[in-house]
This record gives sequence, C-alpha cells and structure tokens, in this order.
Amino acid sequence: MLDALSEKFERILKKLRGQGVLTEDNIAEALKEVRLALLEADVNFKVVKDFLERVREKAIGQEVLKSLTPGHQVVKVVWDELRGMMGGERSGISLASRPPTIVMMVGLQGAGKTTTSGKLARLFKSQGKRVLLVAADPRRPAAGDQLASLGHDLGIDVHRFDQVDASRADVVRICQRGVERAQEQGYDLVVLDTGGRLHVDDELMAELVAVKQAVNPHEVLLVADAMTGQDAVNMAGQFNQQVGLTGVILTKVEGDARGGAVLSIRAVTGQPIKFLGMGEKLDALEPFHPDRMASRILGMGDVLSLIEKAQETFSREEAEAAQKKLISSTFTLEDFRSQLGQMNRLGSFEQILGMLPGGQKLKDLANSGLPEKEMKRVAAMIDSMTARERRDHTLINGSRKKRIARGSGTSVQEVNRLIKQFLQARKIAKVMSGGAGGRRQLAQMLRGM
Ligand code: GDP
Repeated sequence: MLDALSEKFERILKKLRGQGVLTEDNIAEALKEVRLALLEADVNFKVVKDFLERVREKAIGQEVLKSLTPGHQVVKVVWDELRGMMGGERSGISLASRPPTIVMMVGLQGAGKTTTSGKLARLFKSQGKRVLLVAADPRRPAAGDQLASLGHDLGIDVHRFDQVDASRADVVRICQRGVERAQEQGYDLVVLDTGGRLHVDDELMAELVAVKQAVNPHEVLLVADAMTGQDAVNMAGQFNQQVGLTGVILTKVEGDARGGAVLSIRAVTGQPIKFLGMGEKLDALEPFHPDRMASRILGMGDVLSLIEKAQETFSREEAEAAQKKLISSTFTLEDFRSQLGQMNRLGSFEQILGMLPGGQKLKDLANSGLPEKEMKRVAAMIDSMTARERRDHTLINGSRKKRIARGSGTSVQEVNRLIKQFLQARKIAKVMSGGAGGRRQLAQMLRGM
C-alpha cells in the first residue's frame, strides 16, 4: 500500500534528518522533492500546493531552524500536515441513538460496493450488532445473488426484493421495505447496497436522491476504487454535490502504490475517508486513521493497527495460552507449528512488514520471497514428522532426519537447523520471562551467539 510514495518520502526525510544544520535552502530543496513525489502519486495539484505552503511556512519558522534537531522537527511538520490533509481525526460510523442505524452505500459498478457492504456488516456483527443487508439493485439480479451468498457465508440476514415485493424495479420501495423490516424486527443496523452504473449519470443520481429522501439515512457512504486516483476524487466530488455524502470508503488500497485518492479526497471534497478496503476477503477492511496513515507514508510504520489486528484475530485466551506454553519446557515442535499457522491468519508476511517502522526496507528483503518461503519449508518439515516426534524432538535421530527431509523436500541440514532454532527460541523465551535477571542472562546469551 502506497509503497512508491512511502519509499520516496523515506528517502527525502532521511536526507533531512541526517543534516546537523538546516538552512532555508536545504528545506526548499527537500520540499521540491516532496512536491514531485506527491504529484507523481497523483495527488490533486491544488492540494499539493496548499500542503507545501503550510509546510514551508512552519518549517522555515525560527523555532525549527534553531532547534537542536531541525531535521526531525521538519519531519514532524510534514507528518502534522499530511495528517491534517487527510482530515486530522478518525471519522467512524456512529450508531444512531434510536436503532436501526441506516447506512446507504453508493458508487459505480465494480468499485466494490457489494463486497464492502458485506465487510461492514461483518464488522458490526463482530461487535455484537444485529445487521440486515438490503440488496437494492433490482436491475442486476446477479448483484442480489452475490449479496445473498455473502450474507449466507457471514450468517447475516439479507433482504431481497423478490421475497416481499413484487414491484421489482422500484429501488426506493425496496429500500423503504428493508428499513421497515429492520425497524419491525429490531435490527441495530441496516446496510442498503444500492445499484451502480458503469458511469455517473443523471438517472442514477436521481434514483439515489429519491432513496435518500425516502429513508433518511444516517450515513451515505461512497465506495470508490483507490487505484483510479483522481477519477475517484472527482467522482466523490460529484456524488457529494448531487446526493450528499457523509463519508467515503476506498477499496483496493492494498494494490495502490501511489495514494492520490487516499491523500486528496478529504482536502478536495471535505468528506472524510472512513474505512479502507485492503483485499477481496471479507475481513480485509481497516478503519482509516489519518495519523496512522501519515506515519505509514513517512516510513514510521503503523504498529497500533498491527496490534489491533492481532487482538482481533487472536482471542486473549489464545494469546495467553501460547505465551505460557512458550516459556514452559513443554513447548514442542507441535506448538511451534500451530504458531506458524496463527501467523498466517494475521495476513501475508508482506502485509505485516508494511506495518512495521522502516517496513519499506524490510519489505525489499521480503520481496526476495525468503521469509514466506522459509516459513513454508519449516511448516513442511514439521508436517513430515510423526506426532511423537513433534512432541519429543529428542527422538529425531539420523535416519528419522533423513526421512523428514525426504518427506518435505528439504535436506538433513535444514532439519538440523530447524531443531536448533526451535531449541534456541525456547531458551530465549524462557530467559525473557525471568525478569531483570533473565534479561541480563539474555544479553549474555546473545553476545555469545
Ligand atoms: P460492486 O459492483 O461495486 O458491487 O463491486 P463488487 O463488490 O462486486 O466488487 C468488484 C470486484 O472488486 C470483486 O472482484 C471484489 O472481490 C473486488 N474488491 C472489492 N473490494 C476490494 C478490495 O479492497 N481489494 C481488492 N483487491 N479487491 C476488492
């Protein structure tokens, strides 16, 4: 995500940080590069201009140049302004005081509206809310089928026109019925997946305005494809003017190297980005936080989101049990294998690295494919062991090693290395759990490695 942009920012800012004394010329030079980076990222021209003016004004201010760490101060100014450009504070979906909260999804065909409706429904369901999805695109029965199948997979009710209403073509009526059903049956949230077209046209806009007037939604969210850059920004402007939005959800952000839409939508339309779609799977929806995104772009990582993701993915009991196991001597190769599996649930190696500080550099390393490949080989070796071997590694003698290597398509040396690494990890975990004395011991151990 936003890799190309982030890479450039990391480079420019590293140069600035490295300079003990900053002059106006140094800063002007760096800002020229920042300008180019933003324009290449397809950020709106006027947004770039305003951004640079604000950064210049603040960065050339006396306090910055006179400070002990001028380079760092400039980075802070850039971070502040990037965050401001994306809206400053997080803007989420607040539930209505009198349920159901009505969320109307709008957007062009193919942007990811139906998928995102499912993702939102899943998110609120996981927070204990009762959600009703409404398939409100009677012109495209396939869209309704898609939503019905999503709802089925997620265990979420889907309201469809053909179940209750014969007037197939009347989108307004379908939405009204959906909302009425949500009211009657005590749902907390109702998500209206309205119809899209291939292009913005007057008929679509008129239809959406009519739905909006009829059901009076709490949220009107535009779903737009981040990869389309300034087209997404212009479209957000049009939808906002003609229908009136309360926010935007950008999709396919995981594949968007440039970030033009993420950076300019708020500044151009005044509408906040509320969530980011980060993949085709239904759990690939991230709340949008301007401050965290600014950190990611500047190569400082987004550790907070990573922790939240881990908390969401693993239950507390699971995490505690794994930790306890790890520091006890009963931690076996079998446990090691199951932890590898859990790691996979967090996301791809690349996604995880992208959230760590300096992640760009780590990612280059990972792009050689090594860590992920390595993990797969380790998993294959453990899978080739018998259950008894996994529970007691001391059983694994020479001939067993040969068998394991053959079964996993690896070599005896690799099996040896795996066992050594496993024992080392267990030792380190045990020492780390031993308080200050343990940490001293660990330092000694690491020196000896
Ligand atoms: P709609 O026509 O707007 O309802 O779009 P769909 O929900 O049918 O999505 C169109 C395509 O985009 C599907 O193949 C989705 O799997 C895909 N899609 C949706 N959101 C994302 C996302 O965040 N990332 C990626 N990579 N694909 C997505």
